Amino acid sequence: MNGLNNDSQLILALSKGRIFDDTMPLLEAAGIRVLENPETSRKLILPTNDPNVRVIIVRASDVPTYVQYGAADFGVAGKDVLLEHGGEGLYQPIDLNIAACRMSVAVQAGFDYEKAVHQGARLRVATKFVHTAREHFAAKGVHVDLIKLYGSMELAPLVGLSDAIVDLVSTGSTLRANNLVEVEHIMEISSRLVVNQAALKLKRARLQPIIEAFERASQSK
Ligand code: ATP
Ligand code: MG
Repeated sequence: MNGLNNDSQLILALSKGRIFDDTMPLLEAAGIRVLENPETSRKLILPTNDPNVRVIIVRASDVPTYVQYGAADFGVAGKDVLLEHGGEGLYQPIDLNIAACRMSVAVQAGFDYEKAVHQGARLRVATKFVHTAREHFAAKGVHVDLIKLYGSMELAPLVGLSDAIVDLVSTGSTLRANNLVEVEHIMEISSRLVVNQAALKLKRARLQPIIEAFERASQSK
């Protein structure tokens, strides 16, 4: 390995926001405290109280990529992100039960989704999760044209870009604020620990206690 990451160092990849926040208590259970706040710091590499452990801040959807290539030894990513990535090169030891939400189909209030499906209409579906959405509709035998978006999916039906969206929902307040209704539940989502397969072998002595502490702390939640 090169760059920052060598055999005595551990690098953990996290995204800002709910995954970072929900991972902090798990890290603390492993005796690790992050010394800077990613919301206020501009640094992308954050030190911890352990000089051999650092946290890198990346986009949620980039976490599996950093871990796959060994630029980070381990990371935390949502099931939504892992399904889109494919999980290649990643060992997924545990479901951390954090950042929970659901993946759902939503349409504009008043759009008769069931009727459209029963009539065999070709639906236009906008989503960030094209892989998971394709599998979901194929399993149901529903014909869809998928439109890849990178954010603000809620807007698509409102401006006629799509009939439906596939998006993550937690409280439903964003859907409600945009006059959308949830019409189908695809799956429950939570975040998982992912570990680089080579690091698991080469750095097992350092990684194993952290994985076990994460496991204990996430089960006792
Ligand atoms: P980015 O903002 O970098 O484009 P993102 O919006 O997917 O990416 P976050 O909003 O930080 O990133 O979400 C990270 C993860 O949090 C998601 O991949 C998902 O697993 C989880 N999550 C939990 N609840 C929600 C929710 N209501 N909306 C979006 N993501 C959620
Ligand atoms: Mg976001």
